[in-house]
Amino acid sequence: MPTETRTTCPYCGVGCGVIATAADDGKVSIKGDPDHPANFGRLCSKGTALAETIDLDGRLMTPEIAGRPAGWDAALDLVAEKFSQAIAEHGPDSVAFYVSGQLLTEDYYVANKLMKGFIGSANIDTNSRLCMASSVAGHRRGFGADTVPGTYEDLELADLIVLTGSNLAWCHPVLYQRIAAARARRPTMKIVVIDPRRTMTCDIADLHLAVRPDGDMALFNGLLAHLARSPVLDQNYIGAHTNGFVEAFAAASSLSMADLIEATGLPAMQIREFFALFERTEKTVTCYSQGVNQSSIGTDKVNAIINCHLATGRIGRPGMGPFSLTGQPNAMGGREVGGLANMLAAHMEIENPDHRDRVRRFWNAPTMAERPGLKAVEMFQAVADGRIKALWIMSTNPVVSMPDADAVKAAIAACPFVVVSDIVRDTDTTKLAHVLLPATGWGEKDGTVTNSERRISRQRAFLPPPGDARPDWWQLAEVGRRMGFAEAFAFASPAAIFAEHAALSGFENDGVRDFDIGAYGDIDDPGFATLKPFQWPQPAGTGPQETRFFADGRFYHVDGKARFVAVDADVPVRTSADFPLALNTGRVRDHWHSLTRTGKSARLSSHLAEPFVEIHPDDAANLGISDADLVRIESPHGHIIVRALLTARQARGGVFVPMHWTDEFSARARVDTLLPSITDPVSGQPASKHGAVAARRF
Ligand code: SF4
Repeated sequence: MPTETRTTCPYCGVGCGVIATAADDGKVSIKGDPDHPANFGRLCSKGTALAETIDLDGRLMTPEIAGRPAGWDAALDLVAEKFSQAIAEHGPDSVAFYVSGQLLTEDYYVANKLMKGFIGSANIDTNSRLCMASSVAGHRRGFGADTVPGTYEDLELADLIVLTGSNLAWCHPVLYQRIAAARARRPTMKIVVIDPRRTMTCDIADLHLAVRPDGDMALFNGLLAHLARSPVLDQNYIGAHTNGFVEAFAAASSLSMADLIEATGLPAMQIREFFALFERTEKTVTCYSQGVNQSSIGTDKVNAIINCHLATGRIGRPGMGPFSLTGQPNAMGGREVGGLANMLAAHMEIENPDHRDRVRRFWNAPTMAERPGLKAVEMFQAVADGRIKALWIMSTNPVVSMPDADAVKAAIAACPFVVVSDIVRDTDTTKLAHVLLPATGWGEKDGTVTNSERRISRQRAFLPPPGDARPDWWQLAEVGRRMGFAEAFAFASPAAIFAEHAALSGFENDGVRDFDIGAYGDIDDPGFATLKPFQWPQPAGTGPQETRFFADGRFYHVDGKARFVAVDADVPVRTSADFPLALNTGRVRDHWHSLTRTGKSARLSSHLAEPFVEIHPDDAANLGISDADLVRIESPHGHIIVRALLTARQARGGVFVPMHWTDEFSARARVDTLLPSITDPVSGQPASKHGAVAARRF
């Protein structure tokens, strides 16, 4: 009899529910879960092709030491020995974990517990640093905690949706479908897209603002100044629920219209049209994604957006609020268990001695980390200069995805001891490992993920682990046990880890931290098996709570008020005479990250089959480049060779190169080799949307 398994798509942060059906002959078919509140049965091209990506070709099936197959005991003993040795000789900060938004929450929890509570360092960071760290930092500055205020339903209830730095049609397709369907039902709904490129998302936009790279902060500052002089400024809300308006308004109002035109590259008429639309539409949601976050002023951009919603009191109510769209399937789950180097489990703060003490007592931790650890870019710089002696990379490929990727490659190659856990045998990063550990992949692993609207859903196994593959949490727990922490890492199942994570979220919480899923603190294996999708919070002894935050005007700063943040940074200029083109990077519709899964599907690969550079026809003509020419793109950090795709969707003076292709698929295609290691000073997130390059026919 065919068996149906309800699980969750492993790609983007929409977190769609999937029903996987395994037939008697082993064939798997996929359809959307009509009962899942994220997608109600919808799937995008990547989701529908999931069955085409789960074959075992190219899989890492057995542990390896120095390129030779080894048993689990030998591999795990060696990892524990090398990490213990580095800690004994050089201290706990000489080791690091670099993990991933692809991990399940249970994997993340165990990694975080081992590093921060038992090794005694906070040197655990994640590729989510490249994805949404600026949103986290902006939420913490604005709200006092990393809390996403709204829900997907707000996108359908809004009368105006502002999409800034988000190609929703390709990067969060099911949310795009939900908005398109809502607009079809209610044609008065307006949509504004703010993006340097005319992406496919613009197809449903009433207004496309082709803003200069990083010009969006000035745009939202100008909007705040406009709102402050308009009748929709909510003085009562500002007085009762916020602090810092005067300073934020002073910073915002220093920009004249001429300054705004210069900073944004937009005509005055478009700027005024956007301001008027925002002013007159109470039910407004501002969605933002990597175009905002992946910037050297990303956190300021997030707060410039939040400022506009606070100024109008448009937050915490149906159909309104700022909304951060997470890129990866479990970026949010990682945040919940403290997967970033500057956070603690259960959304507590590592800088806060009371929070550290609470987590230490809950874990009975012998060596609690006392200060934030190294953020992703800093971590690989520490690897490069020899401070990190032992590095464990899980479920990610930093040789492809980190900025200045060739420097990261050289750093990892020179690190004394590198462990890589992955499902794929040959990646640009696995080649550099001393020890390879085979992980279980989607369809084989079991646990939870959290999507962009704080909804926790189960990923369930419906396939046996291939070869000797084991879950990431098991690998971490076994190493923890071998390092002398047997009792703390005696987890029997993912359910046991989830229960501990939930119990910690409610531990001495007293209702002061809304991230509380203590209701699941005693969940057992059968309960976990049947767990339905739910949104946090859900404290012990309660049912589901209010799904929208801040309806009562209460925020998480000690005075209960939100903060306006005065932001007035200059728009960065990166281009020069030698490198005159602004480089933008991003996803394509049918591929995911470095192609290890979606690259297996001929259907998905046929959409855009090879790496390319989008360039405006006028720029191409000036450079003597024709459509489909091979083009050499170079920066001070490296070069790539890709196919020219001439399109007026790309603004003049800039180019766009997708992030997916690696040297495994096409020689010299890693776009991140071109990007500098410039980061946002608050969040540490790299500025992956704004480099400077030159282009010439190859
Ligand atoms: Fe998967 Fe995202 Fe597509 Fe949904 S929208 S099916 S989560 S890739």
